[in-house]
Amino acid sequence: MSDLDTRPPEYAVGSVDAQGPEELLITARKVWLGKTTEVARALPDREIRMIGAWCFLDHYGNEDIAHLPGMQVWAHPHTGLQTVSWLLAGEVEHRDGLGSQVLVRPGELNIMTAGHGIVHSEMSRPDKPPTLHGVQLWVALPGADRDIAPRFENYPDLPTLHRPGLSGIVLVGEFEGVRSPARSHTPLAGADLTLEPGASVGLALEPAFEYGVLMVSGEATVATTEVAVDQLLYLGLGRDSVQLTSSGGARMILVGGVPFEEEIVMWWNFIGRSHAELVGYRAAWERRDDRFAPVVSRDEKVMEAPPMPTVPLKPRPRRKLQA
Ligand code: MN
Repeated sequence: MSDLDTRPPEYAVGSVDAQGPEELLITARKVWLGKTTEVARALPDREIRMIGAWCFLDHYGNEDIAHLPGMQVWAHPHTGLQTVSWLLAGEVEHRDGLGSQVLVRPGELNIMTAGHGIVHSEMSRPDKPPTLHGVQLWVALPGADRDIAPRFENYPDLPTLHRPGLSGIVLVGEFEGVRSPARSHTPLAGADLTLEPGASVGLALEPAFEYGVLMVSGEATVATTEVAVDQLLYLGLGRDSVQLTSSGGARMILVGGVPFEEEIVMWWNFIGRSHAELVGYRAAWERRDDRFAPVVSRDEKVMEAPPMPTVPLKPRPRRKLQA
């Protein structure tokens, strides 16, 4: 996935964060990904920039692509983050500069750790299935790990949880006592939860985590708020449980983690800590520096970086501070 948003939200600088439970409903913005796929981007939001280390939440589909090209995201670089690719329907081919060539399929987690730098492409193949539905989530790496060697991991079998009226898959970190094998670098939770029609289920939360729930199908009441598709309910910190209720059934992606207190600079596909660092990443991509090993060859189709903003990018806190 690649960030082509030409009008990223602005963040004000001001006073203190809220630090307890809250219910803040965020409606995802529609953004074009390349020329072929429209995504609903729930994070970063104008107010909530991150939930734990989760810094980017895109939901795409459910789309009929039988007569469309599908996903056409050519080779592009990343730094300082992990991409978590999770399909609900369809198939996307991932290739990267480490030599990985993997079909991203429903039920299999693909997690790419960019660290120092990596290039990947995400393409629907000509013989693709007729539907495309999925999410791509980014996790910011903490200062100590953000320059590590890149790696790509595929987890075909993730742990599941079953409660009356609910089934779930733990993608990353730990949720309801179930731990994912995926390697993460800060305390996180990420889960795909399906509620049966008529279900009402209480789930345990970690009070030191902040959480959010992104609806990807159906509708549900999360805590006390009705949440529809492409809405993210931010739940804040300090809860030991959350109630999920749905009359018609629903599917949602829950994300959580310890608040990420480092201020980051996020621009295009890079995460760094200063404007100068991002200028350096962009220049390294422009000159096809060794930092960014090619996916196939230097002749492949690639995405060029947009111009740097004329106003210097400033490190931003995890949420917009009240003026
Ligand atoms: Mn990408």
